[in-house]
Amino acid sequence: MRAEDILLLTPAGLCCKLGGFHIDPTRPVEKAVITHGHSDHARSGHGAVLATQETLDLMRLRYGDSFAGSTQAIRYGESVNLGGAKVSFHPAGHVLGSAQIAVAANGLTIVASGDYKDVADPTCAPFELVPCHVFITEATFGLPVFRHGDPDGEIAKLLQSVALFPERAHLVGAYSLGKAQRVIALIRKAGYDKPIYLHGAMEKITRYYAQHMDLGELRLVSGAKKAELAGTIALCPPSALNELWSRRFPDPVNAFASGWMRVRARARQRGVELPLVISDHADWDGLTATIAATGAGEIWVTHGQEDALVHWGVTRGLRARPLDIVGYGDEDEETANSGE
Ligand SMILES: [Zn+2]
Ligand SMILES: [Zn+2]
Repeated sequence: MRAEDILLLTPAGLCCKLGGFHIDPTRPVEKAVITHGHSDHARSGHGAVLATQETLDLMRLRYGDSFAGSTQAIRYGESVNLGGAKVSFHPAGHVLGSAQIAVAANGLTIVASGDYKDVADPTCAPFELVPCHVFITEATFGLPVFRHGDPDGEIAKLLQSVALFPERAHLVGAYSLGKAQRVIALIRKAGYDKPIYLHGAMEKITRYYAQHMDLGELRLVSGAKKAELAGTIALCPPSALNELWSRRFPDPVNAFASGWMRVRARARQRGVELPLVISDHADWDGLTATIAATGAGEIWVTHGQEDALVHWGVTRGLRARPLDIVGYGDEDEETANSGE
């Protein structure tokens, strides 16, 4: 049996005919197995959804109760048989509830990792290495220039700036699912215990995270007076940094927490004064080290900077191919149009 007999790329995404399911489908399907709650992977409108409880909860928060015909929750380490395939879930270290999905049949194991990172994150279970024959990887930061560095060091920069400018507010742009909560957890870990302010668009998801971990006191920006916001830290979707919304803050310092902040031109383009290089995706070293450690002889690259990673794989003697999946990688472009 070949890997393609287990998982095949179809217009709706990766499909396991044997098990009658798709992984992270980009179109509505009968049965979807979903790695994590970001909107490019977890869409509404599928017949049945198999995912971790956290991913199901986050989908429900985003899309409402009727986001799928039926749902089934699965725990890390647990496996189910779907048709002739054994499917198991393993932590991906990306966001709360994120999972790699291992599909095994006839002695062949394929791991679809979704999005992942191999560094510590106080808001989710650490990435688990799953030995496999074929490893399906993202390549969001799949270029050697991308090395994310130490997130605690980036948070220290933020807190230094807060101490230096007590009259100014610090506005931190961060994606609403995962990044915002990780930034809050890292700020708490650094010992900052004042209230942290939230844009209304990230309230629901952040309160959900706060049921799973201590994020300290959280307040909504919408109820606060301008003077009260001096010297504070507020989180918002990246797009809100340049919107009218930001004018309610006294002389705000614009910060943005993203792996893309390694690229100075991007920070400048967005008018970011304080770029914080904090990513929920593996950097180049993380991608290549992880691929090597899985022992896979073959890699499929779903999205991102596919060419460089495919080339790296080929020079290492691996079979490697880009999947060019259209529709992944848009989680970063979330807008704040839900207002507050
Ligand atoms: Zn993601
Ligand atoms: Zn993604």
